Amino acid sequence: MEHSATKKPAAAVILLGIPFDDYSSYLRGAAEAPPLIRRALRDEASNMTTENGSDLAKEIGWRDDGDLNFDGVTAPVAFIAAEVQRRLAAGAQLCLLGGDHSVTYPIIRAFGERYLRLNILHLDAHPDLYDEFQGNRYSHACPFARILEEGLAARVVQVGIRSAPEELRRQARRFGVETVGLADWSAAPRVEFSGPVYLSLDMDVLDPAFAPGVSHREPGGLSTREVIGLIQGFAGRLVGADLVEYNPSRDTDGQTAAVAGKLLKEILGRLLRDAPASA
Ligand code: MN
Ligand code: MN
Repeated sequence: MEHSATKKPAAAVILLGIPFDDYSSYLRGAAEAPPLIRRALRDEASNMTTENGSDLAKEIGWRDDGDLNFDGVTAPVAFIAAEVQRRLAAGAQLCLLGGDHSVTYPIIRAFGERYLRLNILHLDAHPDLYDEFQGNRYSHACPFARILEEGLAARVVQVGIRSAPEELRRQARRFGVETVGLADWSAAPRVEFSGPVYLSLDMDVLDPAFAPGVSHREPGGLSTREVIGLIQGFAGRLVGADLVEYNPSRDTDGQTAAVAGKLLKEILGRLLRDAPASA
């Protein structure tokens, strides 16, 4: 038995890849994303300084744990939850790279144990609130239904929604989800939370003009600038994040990888900014 809960964390923020797309409903490919997003983060065409001036190349407050290995894993939900839980118990804040959006349910199972009043800021074209999809309750179309029915989040605020059939609108009302849709969008809203915030960022919240490398292209989405504004601008303390649904098989010349790398840089910057000062 490790005494990890009492050990001082080696790094305040851990980056971890979850190369899993078995629960995608339409196209596979998102499992190939994590190494490509990392490569974009470190691309020599740019640098690793966030927009607010934090240089991730020099910053020692974070480390990269590589990717989870799914060889021989027969219960992926339990496996992902356990791997996340183990790192959270060591006191770290986590940034997870998907993979499809199904990974968010096991991630939040682990976060829900650690944070009693967790808020979730969910950026997506889709609410992902289906009770089940194609017979799979763990489908990437379902994670927020699982999270909410298990009471793992105090608030879920969904921003960027623009593809929500009536069944999903009903689910949003049932679970008390706060939806910022795009039908009457004029400017990015100021989103405010009190307490810990988890950010779940589905790449398809972006317009396909900015990020074509996703399985479900939904036109009429947000710009890269608007998504960066949301990452930087919400009120609350960011304690964890995922970046999911980048599908390299749908990308054009690494365009979406570059956007994902930029968003990852800003997410890491915000996590480091919000991390409690080390003793
Ligand atoms: Mn989506
Ligand atoms: Mn999604």
